[in-house]
Amino acid sequence: HAKSEGKNHFQFYRDELNTRAHDRLVLENRIRTAIDKQHFQLYYQPQIHLASGELIGLEALIRWIDPDHGVISPADFIPLAEDTGMIGRIGDWVIDTACKELKLLHAKGLDQIKVAVNVSAHQFKNGEHLCNVIQSALQGHQLQSKFLSLELTESILIDDINETIRSLNDLKGLNITLAVDDFGTGYSSLSYLKTFPIDVLKIDQSFIRDILEDKSDKAIVTAIIAMAKELDLHVLAEGVETVDHNDMLKEFGCDYAQGYYYCRPIPIEELIERYTEQS
Ligand code: C2E
Ligand code: MG
Ligand code: MG
Ligand code: MG
Repeated sequence: HAKSEGKNHFQFYRDELNTRAHDRLVLENRIRTAIDKQHFQLYYQPQIHLASGELIGLEALIRWIDPDHGVISPADFIPLAEDTGMIGRIGDWVIDTACKELKLLHAKGLDQIKVAVNVSAHQFKNGEHLCNVIQSALQGHQLQSKFLSLELTESILIDDINETIRSLNDLKGLNITLAVDDFGTGYSSLSYLKTFPIDVLKIDQSFIRDILEDKSDKAIVTAIIAMAKELDLHVLAEGVETVDHNDMLKEFGCDYAQGYYYCRPIPIEELIERYTEQS
């Protein structure tokens, strides 16, 4: 009896694996089709200068607009796109589209706004290609490099430190802004901050969520802000959802904020409408 049960378990386990492998394959093919048919769209979320309340930049966040399934969030397809290398083509499209759409905003008079693009490990490892894509996007859309920023997560940066420094220097050589995304979640050594040519630390939203009540979160955030000041880096807080979050971060001397308190990620047309009406 025990033996047959074991066999059933194994059978179950194998079916489970097959189903998952099958699901992945289906998703992979759907992503491939979405790339070919250009079913992606960039949404943009404002980045605000806390002291003045002014809009200074946008973060481009990809959405997959599927004819059958509607809007699919990046968490549901970026990881697989990354594993399969499909993120290469998607990422190239993101950089070009972000530059193109920022020009639309500039043409409406909001001509000092920057755009930040998320870059995956796969893209960062193909540094030469990444630099080329950035250069041709900037040239093709007649955009000055100071208006483009790249967001790289801490985990991408700690892989091979010497290689990382080389790649970051190449990117910095293009005169773009470099930001560390989800800062504080990467379990990495802080010593690299002085060797990497980075400009901005984006404090991960997990530290902001309970900042009003949680003493350790408060301590971590104030420490990051103090350290950033000493290192001549700017700090942006992610996940700012309430006026209390906002006021506390402002009081702590955080430079920039981004979150639902200001605006959810929205398509460029909506963003233009919103920010040209009010001014
Ligand atoms: P991220 O770069 O850290 O982006 C911030 C995420 O937090 C976004 O989720 C944004 O919509 C969400 N967010 C913004 N404000 C708030 C807030 O006040 N509260 C809460 N709870 N969340 C907020 P989204 O758009 O689902 O993107 C998730 C992640 O997917 C991004 O995290 C980024 O790592 C990745 N991603 C998005 N677009 C791209 C892309 O074009 N390329 C690559 N490689 N990754 C991307
Ligand atoms: Mg980001
Ligand atoms: Mg983040
Ligand atoms: Mg994130």
